[in-house]
Amino acid sequence: MLDPRTYTPSPDLLRDRVILITGASDGIGRAVALAAAAHGASVILHGRNVKRLEAVYDQIVAANQPRPSILPLDLEKAGSAEYDALITALEKEFGRLDVLLHNAGMLGERAPVEHYDVAKWMRTMHVNANVPFVLTQRCLPLLRRSPDASIVFTSSGVVPNPRAFWGAYLVSKWASDGLMHLLADELEQPGIRVNSINPGKVRTNMRLQAYPAEDRSLLADPAAIVAPYLYLFGPDSKGVSGQTVSCQ
Ligand code: NAP
Repeated sequence: MLDPRTYTPSPDLLRDRVILITGASDGIGRAVALAAAAHGASVILHGRNVKRLEAVYDQIVAANQPRPSILPLDLEKAGSAEYDALITALEKEFGRLDVLLHNAGMLGERAPVEHYDVAKWMRTMHVNANVPFVLTQRCLPLLRRSPDASIVFTSSGVVPNPRAFWGAYLVSKWASDGLMHLLADELEQPGIRVNSINPGKVRTNMRLQAYPAEDRSLLADPAAIVAPYLYLFGPDSKGVSGQTVSCQ
């Protein structure tokens, strides 16, 4: 495998690919969505905040890139009916899905397990670990129709380097990486590759929430870390599966 951090994507790398990105309204997801569209992908922009989603949409359309779609959905609240509607819409509009990026996430609270708020633990586990399971399960029939499908999970430094007070965030990232490995093995035969990405320290609202006092000028800009995402989305990563790729 080449080093995904120094990967140089060709201009039309993702032409005609249909890519669903959760959490595309802000931070890393937004930067990855803009980069994927710039390389020819039809991007489905998921998030909660419609205004922010529309701003990403407008930026892509203004650049004359493939027209994206907007998918507002609160992953804390989504149930069967919402997932049914999502799959029906994808099926009708595209008939298949080439890439699914599980990027949306929440930090939860920074507290020792002994004092961790139980409801917040459940919500964080749900958005970061249970939703990627449900969404993958629901999207698999559409992914199977792609000639070159790729599923990407979002990992974190708390997986190789677990540490105190990271609570449900840490446990959920271990769970989502576990799901990545499970799926990589299960989907080897249809040839669907499944990997995860550890973005490193990136200048986003979530990072600000986790480290309010740090010097933000030392953090990577989201737009500077997109190369490994594009690598895993496109045909150059064919055959790469069950890996965690680092952006920094
Ligand atoms: P961010 O800027 O806070 O963006 C989070 C995204 O997730 C937003 O688009 C947000 O949508 C969406 N989201 C959160 N909860 C949601 C919910 N209940 N329903 C629907 N959408 C929801 O965070 P980020 O730093 O870019 O993080 C992106 C991913 O990278 C996360 O999985 C995070 O764990 C991971 N990560 C980040 C860093 C870092 O340094 N930043 C490091 C390691 C891993 P709305 O804005 O519409 O609410």
